[in-house]
Amino acid sequence: MMRAGLMLRKLGVLVGWVAGMWVSGVGECAGDQVIRVGLTYGQAPGSVAISGKGDWRARKFREKLDGTARITAGRGELVLEIEDRHGGVGPWIEFGAADERKALKLDGRRYLGRLRVELADGGGLKVINTVGVEDYVRGVVPNEMFAHSEAFKVQAVVARTYALYVRDIEKKHEAEGFDICTTGHCQVYRGVDSQMESSDRAVRATEGEVLTYGGRPIFSAYHANAGGMTQWVDEAWPGSVRRDFPYLRAVASPYDAEARKLRGYEWCYRWKRRVKGREIEERLRARGKRVGDVRALLVRKRTSTGRVGEMEVVGTKGRARLGTPAEVKRAVRTPSANFEVAGGGGRFELTGWGRGHGVGMSQHGALGMAKAGYKYQDILGHFYWGVSLTEGYGGSRSRALRAPELRMKKAEVAPIMVPKGRS
Ligand SMILES: [Zn+2]
Repeated sequence: MMRAGLMLRKLGVLVGWVAGMWVSGVGECAGDQVIRVGLTYGQAPGSVAISGKGDWRARKFREKLDGTARITAGRGELVLEIEDRHGGVGPWIEFGAADERKALKLDGRRYLGRLRVELADGGGLKVINTVGVEDYVRGVVPNEMFAHSEAFKVQAVVARTYALYVRDIEKKHEAEGFDICTTGHCQVYRGVDSQMESSDRAVRATEGEVLTYGGRPIFSAYHANAGGMTQWVDEAWPGSVRRDFPYLRAVASPYDAEARKLRGYEWCYRWKRRVKGREIEERLRARGKRVGDVRALLVRKRTSTGRVGEMEVVGTKGRARLGTPAEVKRAVRTPSANFEVAGGGGRFELTGWGRGHGVGMSQHGALGMAKAGYKYQDILGHFYWGVSLTEGYGGSRSRALRAPELRMKKAEVAPIMVPKGRS
């Protein structure tokens, strides 16, 4: 704890310091394409530490910074501590490096672009990384795809497209003051530390390329493994309208079997789960549904690709209806909604295919196709129907993609979906 006199003197130093100007160019990102990434989405740390190398500064400040800046959430404003200075700096502060290739460190993790710290609404801090779209994509691709040069290109285009869609069209994080988060809710981004030379090459090779439909970036939904066939958008998410997303339709994904060769992911293609009725009962109770001891899981409806679209949980005290594939997955806790049920009396065995919602691109399927020699444009054309690959972030040369003829032999094709209507 700092003594009051000392604190005031240091605060005085800081106030004079704040009066300076943001040096033009510091922390600016190349080109117009930037994205604001919410690094602390779902958490609100009480304090963070930021440091840089070479010439790095805080917006509002004139001088170069040295050492580590510790920013703490105070009463109605941020408190900044750096070297021997300490004081309040208002509701936000933003840091940047003069050389855009130099990263800043936030609590030990490195990020390109600028770091802005704000007071979060419910207390604590919010940190937003404003970064060039290409550098953002470099920080996503290695987290979302297995190492393979062509599969990395597929993921680079999909991740870039998704970022633009969320930023410009869906705007799902706009109210929070940023464009995209770093979790599975949007896509996983870890800044500089996850970058690889091979994934960076794929990002450069596809620079500015996005998938468009009707001249606009598409909702490039993707998931881990389709279990042999992808899913119609409106069947996965009732309430969404098929004609709004004509490119998100069910297509065969025989190369999903590739998962069998991926260490740690072998189970993603075909899986078995034992589930206790008591676990389902507890999850339903947490959502305000009381069914008592679970006696039966009845599949009431399957989607056209065989996924459980509606399920009834029958218990000793009542019944609960799970009305969407997502609700079914949540309550029964399965990797996908594509499964069959066996057993009863409180113990169930579920056998299923795939992992994730099944809409758009299957990542394991895309990897399998890449290994089989398909080019990234063909893989994208296979999973997203009728789209174009457009340069310049959607504003430049465009060419229609077509689904290639799949070469996989019949015998190797996945024992796909459960026939419609079977339970
Ligand atoms: Zn998000």
